[in-house]
Amino acid sequence: MNRKEFFRTSLLGAAAVAAAPSLLASCAPTSKKADTGARLNVSLQRGKCQGESYAEQMDYCESLGVTGFEPGGWDLVHEFDQISKAIEGRKNLKISAICAGFEGFILADDPVQKEAFDTSMRRIVEAAGAIGSTGVIMVPAFSGQEPCKPNDQATYDYLCDQLHELGEFAVKNGTTVILEPLNRRECFYLRLVSAAAAICRDAKSDGVKCMGDFWHMQEETSDYAALMSAGAKYLQHIHIASRLHRCNPGEDGEADNYLDGFRALKEMGYDKYISLECGNIGDPAQAVPAAVELIRQQWDMA
Ligand code: MG
Repeated sequence: MNRKEFFRTSLLGAAAVAAAPSLLASCAPTSKKADTGARLNVSLQRGKCQGESYAEQMDYCESLGVTGFEPGGWDLVHEFDQISKAIEGRKNLKISAICAGFEGFILADDPVQKEAFDTSMRRIVEAAGAIGSTGVIMVPAFSGQEPCKPNDQATYDYLCDQLHELGEFAVKNGTTVILEPLNRRECFYLRLVSAAAAICRDAKSDGVKCMGDFWHMQEETSDYAALMSAGAKYLQHIHIASRLHRCNPGEDGEADNYLDGFRALKEMGYDKYISLECGNIGDPAQAVPAAVELIRQQWDMA
């Protein structure tokens, strides 16, 4: 093609484009995103709530428009009647997930510790089901818990078998167990959301789920990819904290950006809870409501 032909065909192309604006408009990305069914449900761990009694703490949640309350497993079992009575009749507040609270651990090599785990975890799972919780959060083994089974293939297979049984028990009780990956200092065994999701798949039980915790997700290379790797099929809960000091979202300023993770949650149609698990830098009376507002703003922006 010589120079003259090049200009002629280029001009023809430009004319064709100019003549078809409606075609271009129909191909352009629209700002309105499809409704995937994703819903923002903010939850507070009990320790984030103002008030002494469960009723006061739940009133506090409702005053902020928070829809989930996350108690610890020990509290749930030992103060079940108080918690049940306090949550009863609240239309816009439910028990979200239950945070651990069991004794022993599932990968204990000591039968006494394993038995303690099995017994206490099943009691929490029964209580969680009875109160309508989304699931009981657990870690396979914290770094430093001894004696622990070795991190090898046989242990992985054992973990999946044990979780299958526990997951089926949870299903019978109308709830789930939720694997939480932590950072390497706290749980070298399970650090990545994708690794937790793979265990869910291999445990072959609808009662085995996983979660992401934005604090521990410092281990991940991408919030978006990490949460997408679990997807709506396995992702059952989210913990959130500021990203430098594990305090209220917003207390670490610009670092507290959750947009990539929230975009994944919205695209997959996530409708479970995002629960504050964190300390305080400033006065929680101001910082907690501000954190809830920041989560709402970033959810809308994502
Ligand atoms: Mg957590």
